[in-house]
Amino acid sequence: MDPKDEIKSKIDLVEVVGSYLPLKKSGRNFSALCPFHGEKTPSFMVSAERQAYKCFGCGESGDVFTFLEKMEGWDFRETLEELAKRTGVRLKSFGSSPATKLKEKIIQINKLASKFYSYILFDHAQGKVARDYLLGRGIKKSSWEKFGLGYAPAGWENILKFLEKKGFTHPEIATAGLIVSRQSNSARSQAAMQGGYYDRFRKRIIFPIKDAKGQTLGYSARLIGESKEAKYINSPGTPIFNKGSVLFGIDIARGAIRDKNQAVLVEGEFDVISAQQSGIENVIASKGTALTDKQVALLSRYCESVILAFDTDLAGDLAARRGIELLDHADITVNVASLGKYQDPDQFCRKDPAGFNKALSQSVNIYDFFIDSAIRRHDSETALGKKNIGREVIPTISKIADDMVRAHYIEKLSKVLNLESVLVADAVSKKRNDLFAKEPQGFPAANQASQNTKKPQISKEDYFLALFVLPKEIEKKILSMLAPEDFEKDDARKFWEWTRDIMKTSKTNSQETLFKKLPRDLAGFVDHLFLININPAFSERELWVLEIVKIADSLKRMSIKRKLADISNNLRKAQSTGDQAQIATLAKKFDKVSEKLKSPNPNE
Ligand SMILES: [Zn+2]
Repeated sequence: MDPKDEIKSKIDLVEVVGSYLPLKKSGRNFSALCPFHGEKTPSFMVSAERQAYKCFGCGESGDVFTFLEKMEGWDFRETLEELAKRTGVRLKSFGSSPATKLKEKIIQINKLASKFYSYILFDHAQGKVARDYLLGRGIKKSSWEKFGLGYAPAGWENILKFLEKKGFTHPEIATAGLIVSRQSNSARSQAAMQGGYYDRFRKRIIFPIKDAKGQTLGYSARLIGESKEAKYINSPGTPIFNKGSVLFGIDIARGAIRDKNQAVLVEGEFDVISAQQSGIENVIASKGTALTDKQVALLSRYCESVILAFDTDLAGDLAARRGIELLDHADITVNVASLGKYQDPDQFCRKDPAGFNKALSQSVNIYDFFIDSAIRRHDSETALGKKNIGREVIPTISKIADDMVRAHYIEKLSKVLNLESVLVADAVSKKRNDLFAKEPQGFPAANQASQNTKKPQISKEDYFLALFVLPKEIEKKILSMLAPEDFEKDDARKFWEWTRDIMKTSKTNSQETLFKKLPRDLAGFVDHLFLININPAFSERELWVLEIVKIADSLKRMSIKRKLADISNNLRKAQSTGDQAQIATLAKKFDKVSEKLKSPNPNE
């Protein structure tokens, strides 16, 4: 068996997909909201029997390999290696791909770098300034350990020399983002020295940013002392690090997030650490208010609800609003905690840990928050005030994906403004039409709205065949109702022909046994048939027979009509050339075929 097939036989696609998306049983299949396009009614289907998936909205389809390639951004080789690891399948024929090797190397470099930075923070004389700083901020030593904090000392070649001694080349260390090429940088350093590299992080507290498994992907670093440099800097993008797809603290918080089915989202590293010190275990940082779809996807693996404890004024922050839309569309409930008089969660936790906990438990739904915030700033009694509140809140309400939730806030807003709810509902639906007309890409709801209006069409032939493969045994009677040429589509015709042929010699009717012999070029088509959702009522045999015979009958009629159209065509040609013999033959044929249309007896 080739390793791909061996892996596929050892891993369950339903389980793999289920670790990314909530799957619901739907007939013989499982369904979910498609991760590859925005939608609010699930058209993403997964078949356990076929180990295949297909989205009937955007057309994405494939197996466990293509699924992981798309979800994780891996290439085939990486996916193969990862799945081989998970299933214990040995890959003899080739070693790791260059991409995988490089990633492994960077992880190794980061591991050593973290050790170096931690050593400076904990034990080295140069780390005293950082130790004093952290203790001064109330960050306990146990937290330094928990988060793997470190300190990058002053100097231009500390980490460089250290990793060089460990056997890494400068380009490798630079790829990991820890050193910077002088050539690529400013004139100042070019003037200072010719060529070579220097440490990226200097005089900074080091926060390792890890994935859920605890592997360090990159760093965030906070400046200590006075300087014109930015207070916080991050690792640049590397083959394993992308600022937009990580959540600081996820490795520590993920268990608690799963248990509580809720995450507390803050902006910065110190917010996370202080909250953890106050006993709030499900806290992570998005590193800024602008949540990305990757971060939302990561979060949605762990919970269905998020409390935002941001220092920024959410009502006025466009980036935050966009992130909230992303969360909403991922079906994550968003609440907002008020920080009161405190600057940020870090300060709040240090001054009043119990108070912060209380603020979390009193968090309000984001839409209530938006409405309340608008009312506070505008006079809801005056016409102008109403207009301003509407202008601010209606676009937000319009973007709520769930119909019920949207209706609830339309009701609330109309009460607050003392207006008929029909008026508000009208304004919202007008806004929705505008949004969906004007934003063909980017905003997920827009795509999905235009796609949802055109429900994906499944052809009658495909529907018939999907019904045909529903029972566990092949029905010979149904098989004899149609000939391969009755199908218009190539795949359908080939499938029917193959099934008919194999049934002639086969001793068993068992679909499972027969489909094991399915030729490769038909496998994709059969996947497609299995993934078409059939009304569960048709698992009742009598209803199934009624339905499939009805559809077979209608396909037969369609086929006869196509044949008749063909004959008429030829007849017209014969008439134009005056070929009497041909005309007579065709006319006879026409009569004979149209007889069938009256009673399309399939067994004839
Ligand atoms: Zn899709």
